[in-house]
Amino acid sequence: GKVIFNGHIVDREKAIIHIEDRGFQFGDGVYEVIRIYNGKPFTLKEHIDRLYASAQKIYMEIPYSKQEITDLIINLLEQENASTCNLYLQISRGVVPRNHVIPETVSPTLIGYLMPGTRPVDLMKTGGKAVITEDLRWHYCDIKSISLLGAVLAKKKATDAGCLEAILHRDGIITEGSSTNIWMVQNGKLFTHPANQFILNGITRQKVISLLDFNQLPYEETGFTVEQLQNADELFLTSTTMEIIPIVEVDGVKIGNGTPGDVTRKLQTLFEQEIEHECGH
Ligand code: PLP
Repeated sequence: GKVIFNGHIVDREKAIIHIEDRGFQFGDGVYEVIRIYNGKPFTLKEHIDRLYASAQKIYMEIPYSKQEITDLIINLLEQENASTCNLYLQISRGVVPRNHVIPETVSPTLIGYLMPGTRPVDLMKTGGKAVITEDLRWHYCDIKSISLLGAVLAKKKATDAGCLEAILHRDGIITEGSSTNIWMVQNGKLFTHPANQFILNGITRQKVISLLDFNQLPYEETGFTVEQLQNADELFLTSTTMEIIPIVEVDGVKIGNGTPGDVTRKLQTLFEQEIEHECGH
C-alpha cells in the first residue's frame, strides 16, 4: 500500500524512520487519528486544526500548509481506495544528534497511513466496562502528544481487569479516559471535564457539545467526583474510533440499571446523523 511520508505519497516500504528521529527517541511529536467513513474523512478540518495547535504548543513549525496536508490525505484515500478505516497522522520533530535541547533548524518527519477499523457496533449497543484509576500522567494532556506511556500504563489496568477503558481521576475529580473523554448524565443533565491542561479536548467531545447546543440539551463542562460518577444515571465515553460508547459497569458495580441510558442513546442517534450528513452511507 501507499503512505504519506514527508510531503509525498510513497510505497509503505519506502517510509523508513531514522534511529535519531526525535519522535522515536524522545516521543517528541504530535499526532491525530482521523475516522474515515465510506472513504470520506469525518471532521477532517477539526483534526488538522488540532494537529497544528498541538504542534504550536511544542514549538514545532509544520513545514506544510493545512491545505497541503488535507490534499495529501485526500490523495491517499483515493490511491488506497479507502472505505471505512482510520488514518493515523504523525509529525515528529525530525532527525538530529541526540540532545534534549530543541534544535533551531530541523525538518519534521511527517507520516500518515490507513489502519483497518470497523465501527464498534456491538459495544455501542451493549456498552462496556471500565475501571477507575489515579491519573498519573503529566500536565500537558491538552497536547495530542505521541508520548503515550502514561496512557499505555493506564490502559493496562483496564485490560488486566477485563475492561474497555481506564477512567482517570486527579485528586478525586474525573478527568478523562486513557484514550477517550468521559461523560456523566445526572438528572437529565450532562457533565464532562472542562477543556484545560488535564484533558485532551476530543474532536468527538466537541462534536457532542455542538449537538447538545443545537438540540438545547443541558450540560456543564465541570469536573465531577469519583463518587458522583459511581452514582451517575448514565455514563459514556467518546472518541474518534469509539464514537459514543455507554459505560454500564465501573469497578464491577453497575451504573444506573446497568444498561445504556436514554440520553446516551439519543446522542448516539444524533451522532450517527452527523456521520451520515458528512460522509454518507
Ligand atoms: N482523550 C485522550 C487522552 C485521547 O487519547 C483521545 C483520543 O485518542 C481522546 C480523549 C478523544 O479524542 P478524539 O475525540 O479527538 O478522538
